[in-house]
Amino acid sequence: MSMSFIDLAVPGIRCVQPYVPGKPLAELEREYGVTNAIKLASNENPLGPSPLALAAVREGLHDVARYPDAGCFALKATLAVRLGVHENQITLGNGSNDILEFAARAFVTPEHEVIFSEHAFAVYPIVTQIVGARARIAPARDWGHDLEAMRSLVSERTRLIFIANPNNPTGTWLAAKPLEDFIGSLPPHVMVVVDEAYFEYAHDVYPDYPDAMQWLNNYSNLIVARTFSKIYGLAGLRIGYGVSHPEVANLLDRVRQPFNVNSLAQLAAEAALDDLEHIARSLEVNRQGMKQLTEAFAAMKLPFIPSAGNFVAVDVGRPAAPIYEALLREGVIVRPVANYGMPRHLRVTIGLPQENERCIAVLKKVLKT
Ligand code: PMP
Repeated sequence: MSMSFIDLAVPGIRCVQPYVPGKPLAELEREYGVTNAIKLASNENPLGPSPLALAAVREGLHDVARYPDAGCFALKATLAVRLGVHENQITLGNGSNDILEFAARAFVTPEHEVIFSEHAFAVYPIVTQIVGARARIAPARDWGHDLEAMRSLVSERTRLIFIANPNNPTGTWLAAKPLEDFIGSLPPHVMVVVDEAYFEYAHDVYPDYPDAMQWLNNYSNLIVARTFSKIYGLAGLRIGYGVSHPEVANLLDRVRQPFNVNSLAQLAAEAALDDLEHIARSLEVNRQGMKQLTEAFAAMKLPFIPSAGNFVAVDVGRPAAPIYEALLREGVIVRPVANYGMPRHLRVTIGLPQENERCIAVLKKVLKT
C-alpha cells in the first residue's frame, strides 16, 4: 500500500505555502554566473551591523561551547530601560517571526479566526495555518490596512489580529489615532499584534506615526513586536522581541524553546542598542536612498507606493516576473511580490547610493528591451 506523507500531516500544515525568501547573493552568482551582484531584496541594512555589535560577537565567540542565557537577562534589562517597560513584559524571539508564531501558538486553536489585511506580511497566513485556524483577510484600501474592513470581520471566533505598521511589502502605515481607536474598539477576547519591524525608520519620518508600546498600559490584549534584523543590521543572527502585559508575556514564554536566542545574538543586540551613531547613519542612508529611488521612479513614470520603511514597492506597468528575471541576469536582486497579490510590483530595498544607482540604471535598461 502506498501512502503519501501529506495524509499524515496535521491539517493546517497541508495547506501551508512556504515563505519565499529573497534570493541569496551566492545562489544568484552560482546559477547565473554573474559576479558583483547586489541584493536589494530582504530589507536588510545596507551599512551592515554596528561595529560595536561586531566587537561584542568577536568577544562572545570564546564562549560558544556554553548554552546561551535562556532568560536573556542582560538584554532584557537593557531593553526594559530603553523602552520604559518591565523585564517581565518582554519576550525574546529568534527573529520577530518567532513572536508572531508564539502569539498564534499561545492563543489560537482550530476553532478560532485570525484577521489580517490583504497584501500584509507573509508570515501571518503561515502561522495561522500551522495552528489550523481560519484566516480572515480584509481587503486593503490604497494598498494599506483598512481598519474598518478589519473591524467588520471581528466576531466571537476572532482570537488574534495582526497589524503591520508599517506594512511589508507595501510600506503603508497607520497614524496614531485611527490605530488606537481600532485597538480600543476590540472585545477583550481578541489579541492584537502590532508588528513594528520597521518602527525605527517610520518613527524618524512621520510625526503622527505611533509608538504602540505607549499603549500597553491601556490595552492588556496588545502585543508589540520589534526586531534587530532591520535598522540594527543583525538579520543573520535572528533576534527580535515582543512586549506585552506580563501575563501575556508569561504565556508567550511558555511556547518559546528555552534557548531560542543564541548567545551571540544576545550580545550583538545589546551592543547595537547603544550604537546611536550607527542608527543615525542608517536612517540618513535610508532617507537619501528613498529619495534617490522614488525620484528616479517618478522620472521613469513608474507609480510607487509611498513607504515608511526601508524599501519601496514600484509598479513596473506590466507583469513583474520577467522584469525580476531580467534584473537577476544583470546581477540585481529585488523582490517579486506576486505572492502578496501584487503581480505588477517589485519591492526594492533601499541600498547604498551606488547600489540604488545601479538598480535604477538596470531597471531602465530592462524596461526598454
Ligand atoms: N514583520 C515584518 C513586517 C517584516 O517585514 C519582517 C521581516 N521581513 C518580520 C516581521 C520578521 O523579521 P525577523 O524575523 O527577521 O525579525
